[in-house]
Amino acid sequence: MIPVFDGHNDALIAEDHGSLASGRHGGHLDLPRMRTGGMRGGIFAVFTRTYDDRSRAPAVDRDDGVRTFPLDPEISSERAALVCTTVAGRLLALERTGRMHVARAIADIDNAREGPSDAPPVAVLHFEGAEAVGPDLAALETWYAAGLRSIGPAWSRPNRFAHGVPFIYPSSPDVGPGLTPQGFALLRRCAELGILIDVSHLTEAGFWDVASRDAGPIVASHSGAHAISPCSRNLTDQQLDAIGRSGGLVGIVFACGFLRPDFVDSPQTTPLELIVRHASHVADRIGVEHVGLGSDFDGAYIPSELGDVAGLPRLLNALRDTGGFTPAEVEAIAWHNWRRVLDAWWR
Ligand code: ZN
Repeated sequence: MIPVFDGHNDALIAEDHGSLASGRHGGHLDLPRMRTGGMRGGIFAVFTRTYDDRSRAPAVDRDDGVRTFPLDPEISSERAALVCTTVAGRLLALERTGRMHVARAIADIDNAREGPSDAPPVAVLHFEGAEAVGPDLAALETWYAAGLRSIGPAWSRPNRFAHGVPFIYPSSPDVGPGLTPQGFALLRRCAELGILIDVSHLTEAGFWDVASRDAGPIVASHSGAHAISPCSRNLTDQQLDAIGRSGGLVGIVFACGFLRPDFVDSPQTTPLELIVRHASHVADRIGVEHVGLGSDFDGAYIPSELGDVAGLPRLLNALRDTGGFTPAEVEAIAWHNWRRVLDAWWR
């Protein structure tokens, strides 16, 4: 079985029944299903919901045919810090009980791939939105010690560091300002510590702000190609070119709405093959070494044909059979490309 490193999941914040360790009812990802699918490592996101009672405000369909979701308001640092402490604690408990490793160095990534298939998988701790980090950035030290190795300055809402990209279809990602001065300071400090910066939820302005600093390879952990699905969350060909020049990577997202040309969020009618099309577009444009996987398991509707993390071998087969990628290229998409960019950012 081909080992997979997946660039983004929300399993730590999923709230359905069961446990990550022994198996959940529903959802996309748990340890038993990771073993079935060959997922030996991945980036595990910590995310603070804007609202306690719902995921976000419903879509608004404008008269001109544009579908837009109202931008979530800012949340407080205090609330985000409490949620991050709680959710990261779930991962650290899995580490303490020997069910998972938390990656703190690149050797942890390598060990997870080379070890026996029933060895504990490796998790990279990621903040999807940096609200829990205060203006003086001191909390980064604590979180780095706990294992934080990846951060998205903002989710799709504004905070003190950046203006996240709102969900709009059809729309360019150029919708709003980029990094704030504190956002540039965050980027500098993360580069010093060795914490990867993830641009997936940034506006196009924020993307170019990150690109201008030349801090490390540009990484979009869970995004698609705007040329196929023209929504604000996807990357334009010009952004892809910059990612390629930087030696970076796009984790191809599995979210139906971001995959489909019509933005419809329907698992039953979204073919697995669309994930392959996005991967092929990025590979054709900037090279297969810049393609990875970034599922958004437990954070999005994904094609029923894939189902959940146990279905990953079906996707790898499709990359080979439909996408025409060679076995070595499939292995690079599944693992080695992610390994390269993590190694470039980490100290
Ligand atoms: Zn996300």
